[in-house]
Amino acid sequence: MRRPLVAGNWKLHGSRDGNARLLAALRTGLDPGWAVDVMVCPPFVYLAEAHAALEGSPVLLGAQDVSAENQGAYTGEVSAGMLREVGCSHAIIGHSERRTLYGESDELVARKFKAVVAAGLVPVLCVGETLQEREAGTTHAVVQRQLDAVFAAVSIEEFARGVVAYEPVWAIGTGRTASPEQAQDVHAFIRHAASMRSARMAGGLRILYGGSVKGTNAQALFGMPDIDGGLIGGASLEAGDFLTICNAAAGTVT
Ligand code: PEP
Repeated sequence: MRRPLVAGNWKLHGSRDGNARLLAALRTGLDPGWAVDVMVCPPFVYLAEAHAALEGSPVLLGAQDVSAENQGAYTGEVSAGMLREVGCSHAIIGHSERRTLYGESDELVARKFKAVVAAGLVPVLCVGETLQEREAGTTHAVVQRQLDAVFAAVSIEEFARGVVAYEPVWAIGTGRTASPEQAQDVHAFIRHAASMRSARMAGGLRILYGGSVKGTNAQALFGMPDIDGGLIGGASLEAGDFLTICNAAAGTVT
């Protein structure tokens, strides 16, 4: 049984007052009986304050990115060890905005995966195809390439420590969600690719869907057999919508 995870990626949004309100609303609205892990990923500068605001609550804290390096002359970078020190348990890596806007390669993402695991945190590895790649029929090949880079860099035990998020680039922030069937197809493909390394690891691997998930479409997506929760952008900035999505994930647990 894979416990669902719903993670909110706040991206470049937030303010001290706004965060305090949002986190307080999540604390109040979360049902402690829900069999779902819930996480928020604010910008770096708010992590320590968010950790304090979440003290005593089951809400997990993640970072939106991380350095592949531990320390040294890497101006502007933040290491996995630093993230652990301020209370993070997870770090998103390879988000499509990092890959496209900042030119992050599959190899760099793989190094980040290794650094995050080495620091004792959980990497949330984002993979997914562009619209052009989908229309060219190369979705599986693109996702396989992104996974292979990580498989080449880490052991099966290390890979098993991570979470994969399938995020079709054409669905992120566009309001255009993959249909539950389209998403399930790629999730099943990811699990199959993982099973080629280890059936046991693949069976326990949490694979999240991300791309315009809302309170209105979450239930249908999370109802698919290989979708184990969501990585939520826009809808994670509004407590009511985010809680509806968390509730939908909890509702898939039997
Ligand atoms: C994301 O930022 O990873 C994301 C999926 O965004 P949105 O939910 O807004 O599409």
